[in-house]
Amino acid sequence: MTVGRIARKIDVNGIVQGVGFRPFVYQLARENQLSGQVANTAAGVTIHVEGDTLQIDAFVSDLEKKPPPLAHIVAIDIQKTTPMGSQGFAIVASKGGASRATLISPDVSVCDDCLGEMFDPQDRRFGYPFINCTNCGPRYTIIDDIPYDRPKTSMRHFTLCAQCQAEYDNPEDRRFHAQPNACPACGPQVTLYDSQRAVLQDKDPIARTAQLIKAGHIIAVKGLGGYHLCADATNDKAVERLRQRKHREEKPLAVMSPDLDTIVSFAQITSGEAALLTSIQRPIVLLTKKRPEKLAFSVAPRNQYYGVMLPYTPLHYLLLSPGFTALVMTSGNLSEEPIAIDNDDAFERLKDIADYFLMHDREIYLRSDDSIVRRAASETRQIRRSRGFVPMPVFLKAQMPAVLACGAEQKNTVCLTKGRQAFVSQHIGDLENLATENFFRMTIDHLKRILDIDPQHVVCDLHPDYLSTQWAKTQKQAPLLQVQHHFAHVAACMAENKLDEPVIGLAFDGTGYGPDGTIWGGEILAADLAGYRRLAHLEPTPMPGGAAAIKAPIRMALAYLHQVYGRGMGALKLPALDAMENRESDIIVEMCVRRINAPLTSSLGRLFDGVAAIIGLRNTVAFEGQAAMELEMMADDQDEERYGFEWRDEEIRQIAIGPIIQGVVDDLGMGMPAFIIGRKFHNTIIEGCADLCAVISKETRIDKVVLSGGCFQNRLLLEGLIHSLAQKGLQVFSHRLVPTNDGGISLGQAVIAAALADGRTSTVA
Ligand code: ZN
Ligand code: ZN
Ligand code: FE
Repeated sequence: MTVGRIARKIDVNGIVQGVGFRPFVYQLARENQLSGQVANTAAGVTIHVEGDTLQIDAFVSDLEKKPPPLAHIVAIDIQKTTPMGSQGFAIVASKGGASRATLISPDVSVCDDCLGEMFDPQDRRFGYPFINCTNCGPRYTIIDDIPYDRPKTSMRHFTLCAQCQAEYDNPEDRRFHAQPNACPACGPQVTLYDSQRAVLQDKDPIARTAQLIKAGHIIAVKGLGGYHLCADATNDKAVERLRQRKHREEKPLAVMSPDLDTIVSFAQITSGEAALLTSIQRPIVLLTKKRPEKLAFSVAPRNQYYGVMLPYTPLHYLLLSPGFTALVMTSGNLSEEPIAIDNDDAFERLKDIADYFLMHDREIYLRSDDSIVRRAASETRQIRRSRGFVPMPVFLKAQMPAVLACGAEQKNTVCLTKGRQAFVSQHIGDLENLATENFFRMTIDHLKRILDIDPQHVVCDLHPDYLSTQWAKTQKQAPLLQVQHHFAHVAACMAENKLDEPVIGLAFDGTGYGPDGTIWGGEILAADLAGYRRLAHLEPTPMPGGAAAIKAPIRMALAYLHQVYGRGMGALKLPALDAMENRESDIIVEMCVRRINAPLTSSLGRLFDGVAAIIGLRNTVAFEGQAAMELEMMADDQDEERYGFEWRDEEIRQIAIGPIIQGVVDDLGMGMPAFIIGRKFHNTIIEGCADLCAVISKETRIDKVVLSGGCFQNRLLLEGLIHSLAQKGLQVFSHRLVPTNDGGISLGQAVIAAALADGRTSTVA
């Protein structure tokens, strides 16, 4: 044993397997002239190092500061141990029960090293669309079980050639233990088919595909987490045809563009947005359009934004290399169904949409849509959290029992907890058809398996008709808890901000089942993780036709007008009413009066819809929230005026609709332009709610305010409330890690169930 040598045992926990962590440790140890070894364990990675103190300190410092791009260190535990007099540094076999407790990396974009090789004519992987290494490539979507080793992935069908095997075995190679490692000789291949499943023989199927896209065809392209439907985004006829075939009327279509310079030619990019676009997660980022529009009108009709992403697989880079401004890259599905992942399924479901199919033989085990994010109030906001982010956990404040949370109905996700981690699934979709329900069940099974979680508690929404609720009720192996929708929204925001003390929760939303039999959605709650109390809400208004009122905001417009003016609304001169048959509006009003199929709602989302319809933006929508979105987009004005905002001081305060609707109607009567009315309406909600929160804060002595619910996808509302509440001395918390919409509900359900399972009692309920 050398004099002065000390030894340390270092345990690293987090995403440290399958991401090149052991080779990184190996290099680092050698750089610092340390001897010892590194191995995977059940909890992560364990390291034994020997050397002098300075060298070990330098090693630990670099370990923390420079981990490989896909690694995510949660904890490092360092303990003194006895030097063994080891020579050299070695990567040794996994210790103890392999890697059942470790974290799996999300799928991430191809790295620069791999791209360099792919575009190098001298490289053996020149032009190979499945190139990857320990720092990049597929992970979550190809794993079937743990430990994360090749036989447990969809790469099991491909036997490594001698060269690939040598890379895989060499700790100094950047493909050491890269499970999806492959090359043209041994790995997956692409094939181009027509819609009759006949192969188009071509020595370069990807270049041929690009030609077909240029010629105006629609191609189904198999990607990382599922199929895309692909068309030239500058070809209006092609994009229009894609919309018709996919039955997607007006919802914007995502585009993929080769690089930032090209994106700048059609959209504005801030530095924050550029960082998001180029991040290894490669999400779709909402960017403000440049005018005049350079892409086809039908890409994002009547919308201020484009959803744009950079290429993230090698195949995308090859496909875009012949010089496109942008390709439409929308999910390969019929509207409302989950994205296709299986080749036969894709042929079957997409045969009436796609002219050609660019397929490959690496199976996708778990579908994962492209994630969608935007920047608002100087932070990244998740709109749809999937590929690139999942299964990265949300790290919690406290240990949790194992809980399965089944989420909501729209934009469903599920959540499983373990220790201090909450695993929110990828976006599953709207649970309204069998295909999506199957995907829901499959995702739960899959996550349970790869995360090795056996839930001791199951939690779902209060709504009896949600398919997620019905499924949860069939689960007999664990006790079931049902949680109110808006309480779950607030708890989700608390969880990601590591709060468990009482908060004032603003849950501003579309719809959610209220325990009083009305439909909630404009709620101010006092909440902690164990319970809530309803403090204030929007004045309940009939929702004529129930769900039909979501598709036709004009129905809400009539309901609000009737609520405020009664029969006197007939005398109002409003563009929205003029456009309507008298008989039709009479029927809707009658539904409100007699309360036939017109449940009461306190939803703020519906008020946005109603106001949008009153000022004549639109009477019907092609997707939920479209009218409210248009109201937001056109209200981008500096006006500081507002309408009246009053509440009745009762045990549960009611925010009056009257002054708001009257203000809008009066302005319309005076010929005020719609964009000013829209701005004033936003100001009213923002400042009025901030005033009310200040009053509530004084009464309750709670000074933390949590913002959640689908309405906070509205940038003006989010930024306005953050600002106004802060000005009143309140601490404001909003979503950054999970969506503020119903995609975040499962996280909230999970932490509430865990708190109650731990026997916590609420101090506010
Ligand atoms: Zn790579
Ligand atoms: Zn090979
Ligand atoms: Fe909601």
